[in-house]
Amino acid sequence: MILTIKPFGNVEPYVLDSLSKELSTWGEVSLGSTEPVPQSFDHRIRDGQTQYLASDFERAMAREPGDRVLGITDVDLYERGLNFVFGHATIRDRFAVISVARFRNDGPDRLLERSVKTAIHELGHTFGLYHDDANSDCVMHFSEKLEDTDRKSRSFCTKCNAVAAFTLSRLKK
Ligand SMILES: [Zn+2]
Ligand SMILES: [Zn+2]
Repeated sequence: MILTIKPFGNVEPYVLDSLSKELSTWGEVSLGSTEPVPQSFDHRIRDGQTQYLASDFERAMAREPGDRVLGITDVDLYERGLNFVFGHATIRDRFAVISVARFRNDGPDRLLERSVKTAIHELGHTFGLYHDDANSDCVMHFSEKLEDTDRKSRSFCTKCNAVAAFTLSRLKK
């Protein structure tokens, strides 16, 4: 498959580079040009922080090429009814978005590790995967807080991997 990574705002270049390498096991990865976060995106103030509506990023990436498009931003994200989200995707859609805003406080390795796990998780949704509540080690386990992300692995469990591999096999060219 062809995956486009689309940065919005100020995301650390080493994160973009390493993420591109990491995700290239699935196919061809191309890094899109960085854009500022459009002020037209829905946003709100929570605890003194500006948060942006995650699904607005997905809509904005409609013209990006690729079988899948992963947005990555440094602004905090939310969805309606939730205080915040680490990332967002719609099941079997072409788009996913993640935020590094909450990943940065524990050094560069943690920032990268959390970004990779969250990207794989959100792209997993686009491959047709739901949350894997039965397996806390699976990357598809829901992350409510950072500890959940830090605890789980960066891989799909056997069951989830079968679904992801099936979708990926259909995207192979
Ligand atoms: Zn999820
Ligand atoms: Zn799983």
